[in-house]
Amino acid sequence: MASKKKIQTYQAPKGTYDILPPDQKYWERINKIVRELAVFYGFDRIDTPIFEEAPLFSRGLGLTSEVVEKQMYVFRTRGGDELALRPEGTASIARAYLEHGMSVLPQPLKLYYSGPMFRHESPQKGRFRQFHQWGLEAIGEGDAVADAQVIQAAFHVFKELGISGFNIQVNSIGCKKCRPHFRDVLKSHYRSLLKRLCSDCKRRFKENPFRLFDCKNEPCVALRQSAPQIIEYLCEECHNHFKQILEFLDETNLPYILNPYLFRGLDYYSQTVFEFWLENEPNPGNFALGGGGRYNYLIEILGGKPTPAVGGAFGFERMIEIMKAQKVKIPEVRPKIKVFLAQLGILAKRRCLKLMEDFRRTGITVAESFGRDSIKAQLRVADRLGAEWVLILGQKEALDGSIILREMSSGAQEIIPQEKAIEAIKKRLAAKQK
Ligand code: AMP
Repeated sequence: MASKKKIQTYQAPKGTYDILPPDQKYWERINKIVRELAVFYGFDRIDTPIFEEAPLFSRGLGLTSEVVEKQMYVFRTRGGDELALRPEGTASIARAYLEHGMSVLPQPLKLYYSGPMFRHESPQKGRFRQFHQWGLEAIGEGDAVADAQVIQAAFHVFKELGISGFNIQVNSIGCKKCRPHFRDVLKSHYRSLLKRLCSDCKRRFKENPFRLFDCKNEPCVALRQSAPQIIEYLCEECHNHFKQILEFLDETNLPYILNPYLFRGLDYYSQTVFEFWLENEPNPGNFALGGGGRYNYLIEILGGKPTPAVGGAFGFERMIEIMKAQKVKIPEVRPKIKVFLAQLGILAKRRCLKLMEDFRRTGITVAESFGRDSIKAQLRVADRLGAEWVLILGQKEALDGSIILREMSSGAQEIIPQEKAIEAIKKRLAAKQK
């Protein structure tokens, strides 16, 4: 007996997925609202490559950040360059800012972006290896109003999309002047508690004690309650900056919550950090809709002049999941079909192909099912699509230059000359609008 040959099949790589047609409307909707609001608040679009030189991220984000340490897709090219798939957008934008000498442009330079990012994490709810973010960056402005405006613009994107039940967590993590002191205070507090920390936290204690606050283990969370809070240790400048942000947020009625444990994992942040959290999420910090902060040192770390900047990034996948869960209505992106072209026979099919093109130029929406030969089957499609009129071109009509115009609601039909078809539809459309 001949052995059955196993057929090789393929699947999307772990942690990635296809965006199938029924879901496209969410993507289009988010991109549209992001574009409209970003433009309103004065942000211009920027696109950067999806891979960069790997050290851009290791220097920019910090070697001990989780993203660089564990999640970056790094590869060597045939030419020996070490590249990384971008795990986030900010470092690339800072690189572009420097590369294109954008510091000579009027500041702040306000940019927005949208695209795929890559992190090697274990796939779970709302966590993918290829995921998508949109983000806002305001570079060259140290005033707290820039922080408030990034938060405000992002907040209104969510609102405009119809997403509800979230709040904004904010904290200040200080600057080069005050943070080291707080780091020492935090370390001396935790030193006596080391034995009670989990093994991850023991390592965090050594490498980056602020990450002690990220731990989800119950005993570590409990210990956190008695830990010192940075707000008490901010220098005057950071304190005032933070106070101003809160005043701006109050003024614009944004629902924020002070969160002294929010540090965000990246080295490049200073002063403000924020995240958008869902109210009913059991583990909101793990399923944030987005977040960001001030990164006053990043441009300098990457070789530029000290340049204050602030930004935030927001995840499409989580937003879409919430839009679905909250049954958010998406306006139809496909225009309603007005006319359906039905045909019988090769000559009629050819004419219909041409007629479709003529309709496209007029802006009237048409649909077809040229692969079907039965008129009955085509009328069924027309009905399903909600076409208001069907133009039927049979073998006889194709030869004698006529066409049948059928009104779907009444079933009434009339025969008109083919060259009058568009005009007849236009007339009926105009009559309906009256
Ligand atoms: P982050 O800067 O890491 O806080 O990311 C900002 C936002 O991007 C998060 O709040 C998520 O909405 C989204 N995000 C980050 N990582 C992932 C991931 N692996 N899968 C899906 N969304 C993500």
